[in-house]
Amino acid sequence: MSLPSTTTAPSWTEVAGAFPALRQTVNGHPLVYLDSAATSLKPTVVIDAVSEYYRDYPSNVHRSVHTLAGRATEAYEAARARVAGFIGTRAENLVFTHGTTESVNLVANGWARRHLQPGDEILLTPAEHHSNLVPWQQAARATGARLVYAELSPEGHLSMAALRAAFTPRTRLVTVAHVSNVLGTENPIRQVVELAHRHDAVVVVDGAQSVPHLPVSVTELGVDFFAFSGHKMCGPTGIGALYGRPDRLRETDPLLFGGEMIAEVDRERATWADVPYRFEGGTPNVAGAIGLAAAVQFLESVGMQRIAVHSRELAVEAAERLAPLPGAAVYGSLANRQAVVAFNLAGVHPHDVAQVLDSLGIAVRAGHHCAQPLMATLAIQSSARASFYLYNTREDVDRLVDGLREVGRYFGR
Ligand code: PMP
Repeated sequence: MSLPSTTTAPSWTEVAGAFPALRQTVNGHPLVYLDSAATSLKPTVVIDAVSEYYRDYPSNVHRSVHTLAGRATEAYEAARARVAGFIGTRAENLVFTHGTTESVNLVANGWARRHLQPGDEILLTPAEHHSNLVPWQQAARATGARLVYAELSPEGHLSMAALRAAFTPRTRLVTVAHVSNVLGTENPIRQVVELAHRHDAVVVVDGAQSVPHLPVSVTELGVDFFAFSGHKMCGPTGIGALYGRPDRLRETDPLLFGGEMIAEVDRERATWADVPYRFEGGTPNVAGAIGLAAAVQFLESVGMQRIAVHSRELAVEAAERLAPLPGAAVYGSLANRQAVVAFNLAGVHPHDVAQVLDSLGIAVRAGHHCAQPLMATLAIQSSARASFYLYNTREDVDRLVDGLREVGRYFGR
């Protein structure tokens, strides 16, 4: 399948057929790819959109007047509008970045460093990915602000009660992941926003694991800033975005100074271009943006609501079937679980779990998942993690469960 040409949504078999990487065997077995939370596979339409740009109109944007440059600029700005629409906002509120990490750094450096005072508080949870933690540590260090943690519930979830209790008159910024990359939990962002705005605090949401899987409207959520990555949602690597409420973007300083982000420059000083261009200094990732727009079109053709249900069902089934395996610990509860299942088998290092599964053609992640404070909270060093997406099937869950039985036999359990 290339892009489905009919108005009816494609079957899951057709969807899987759109991903050429799935047409391979790994270590003699058909590939089962269960590492989409790290990065997703790419459908042919995305690969084609990127190659078409490089082949037919590989020009810079917003500069030259020739035809190819015009086509590139048009495609780049059309991509901005498409990606913005996908998250329920308008083009002028969307900054292209290289991904969630850069997006969070832009807010932490461009907004927080300008607005936080010594003694102000940044409220977050111990479940944050390092990309939504280390930039805040640095901003706190630079401004004299403090990090305040709202401890997780006993099941390891965001606790609204703990969050409520952690607010003080100094809370200026609240930041949480929309969906945890370890526990798979979807956090109640609307409630977080309501609470934070009552305290006049700005809300920054890490959407790296939600935008690929759920219908998201930043406008309905009411967030101030929202970060996500293209490569986890069928798009190319090196492209992502930051949504900012128009007033918030206007009060954010640029991070990269140089070409394309200016209005006027003289020998001594410069003024900035309008939002969002002032945040995109230098030649942007044109091919990435075009590929991301193709990914968005592809996801929309499948249907975000369907994708949300599909990956959730696979993850819940996997969690339910892994839990009774000998020595298995599955982290997080089934409530609000999205596409991720982190687990351990007692007495087997997660790297060994991943290695044996790989020998069976099954790709899972093993490690601390860039969430060391969460690992410490769960009192583990690391875990294995299976993550599901629109191209996975129930047969993939069967292969995972059978593979883990094989791991158990291999390690004499
Ligand atoms: N936050 C979360 C929850 C993530 O899962 C990831 C990627 N693992 C990131 C942030 C960072 O994303 P990127 O590496 O694309 O910048």
